[in-house]
Amino acid sequence: MYLGVHVSISGKIYESIDRASVLGCTAMQIFSRNPRQWRQHEIEKEDVREFIRRRKASAIKVVAVHVPYLINLATSYDVLYQRSIEAYIQDIRETAALGAEYLVTHMGSFKNSTADVGLKQYIRALDIIFKETKGLKVKLLLENTAGSGNWLGATFDHHKSVFDGVRDNSRLGVCLDTAHVFGAGCDIRRADLFDALLDEIGAEVGKKAVKVIHLNDSKAELGSLADRHEHIGKGFIGLKSFKHIVNNPRLKDVAFILETPKDTPVADRMNLNRVRKLIAHGI
Ligand SMILES: [Zn+2]
Repeated sequence: MYLGVHVSISGKIYESIDRASVLGCTAMQIFSRNPRQWRQHEIEKEDVREFIRRRKASAIKVVAVHVPYLINLATSYDVLYQRSIEAYIQDIRETAALGAEYLVTHMGSFKNSTADVGLKQYIRALDIIFKETKGLKVKLLLENTAGSGNWLGATFDHHKSVFDGVRDNSRLGVCLDTAHVFGAGCDIRRADLFDALLDEIGAEVGKKAVKVIHLNDSKAELGSLADRHEHIGKGFIGLKSFKHIVNNPRLKDVAFILETPKDTPVADRMNLNRVRKLIAHGI
């Protein structure tokens, strides 16, 4: 398995590699730009080269880039839809240029419409996007959501619709967020139910589809539909549950990435060490 955290890109994008390396990460996740703004400019070519150089010299084996929040490919608003498709294409190209393996994405919100229409919009957009970015190796990982509002992806039949609906699904995968799935009502505190969840995902979209796990405890209770991340072991999921999650033999090739709160300067190190201890002591 690979283990790491979401790290900041403040300063130069390649400094994110140093931040992850100092923490002993073998995987990392970044936003390639401000997640709450549309793109202002491309990343400088020199900075891209430096990012690749530093990564090669590091122990980091998996890099995931997270899609900005503004992008919505499930929307029925034309202007936002077109803008989102363009931004997505640019993001895939940039992710490929950085040599990152994955682009982690939410599936969008169908506000003022229905989930079915939202899924159709999403599938139509992905067909355009994959065509425009043909030949690039970056995999698009569809993240599950907690089920609040009109967000797609709280249940894996949404993922299945997308995998089945697109013309070519060879560049699709899944990012499983533990806090979101718990919020959506799946009691992953029980090892048998976590295994059943992996079975379900396997049946819906393929056994090897899960490439990244967002390893987060939850401030919100089971089935709350709320998306509130907590430090590992401090939330409703609890430390014991993470033991069977991180040691699950079916996830040995998966990258575990923490998106836990960064409320103190040592928070990342503390959470990573908690996970490392769970791995060291086995199931
Ligand atoms: Zn997540």
